[in-house]
Amino acid sequence: MNGSILFSEKLKRVGVEHGFTTRALGDVLGSLNLWEKETNLKGSSLVWLNQVHGIDVFVVDQPASICSSDHELRYDAAITNRTDVVLSVRTADCTPILLFSDEPRAVAVVHAGWRGTLAGIVTHAVSALVETYNCTPKDLTAAIGPCIQPCCYEVGEEVSKPFSDRFGSEAISIVGASKYAHLATANRIWLIECGLSAEKIETLDYCTCCRKELFFSYRREGALAGRQLAYISLTDRSPIA
Ligand SMILES: [Zn+2]
Repeated sequence: MNGSILFSEKLKRVGVEHGFTTRALGDVLGSLNLWEKETNLKGSSLVWLNQVHGIDVFVVDQPASICSSDHELRYDAAITNRTDVVLSVRTADCTPILLFSDEPRAVAVVHAGWRGTLAGIVTHAVSALVETYNCTPKDLTAAIGPCIQPCCYEVGEEVSKPFSDRFGSEAISIVGASKYAHLATANRIWLIECGLSAEKIETLDYCTCCRKELFFSYRREGALAGRQLAYISLTDRSPIA
């Protein structure tokens, strides 16, 4: 970590440009110049999605300047094999997930809150990589980024019931009368079911809600909370040192 951006060890090892910004960088929308300085990437190459907690995957087959002129991009995931774009999602408790395929080269980004997690948005992204670029799930490397963890993510019956029905006891902790959901674990379960190999999936084990010095949190700060940026790109550059 260089102070304002967290990296996945596994994605670093395969040499793909990526990161998860932290509070030190500020809210993504207000600090793109800082992000550009830290990453040496261009803000104009970022593809922004209007995240709607759905299951649709955007195939980025044009430069970001063209994609971003469409303000109706209602997607929670994107894939690309272009080297001139940076895929991104913004989160403040929801789970950001980055996927990388080395051969053929392609990347994906996913935004998964509890609705998207239940609906399997991450499996839709994996399927899109397979169908569009002929990627092989077992060869994918995945990083599940910082999100709200069970320590802070108490949920009602409308979440706990479908979570335990779908993912089993691993995805819900019960403490007395309270139930806590495991977003990262649930998404990891989907990835394994999709055919990814366990050793290629990394979970960055931070809670966005209780690590307030590091992250913005919707649950802690409400709707006006800033947002972290998760990004990944096939840009032709040397691996992160
Ligand atoms: Zn916590």
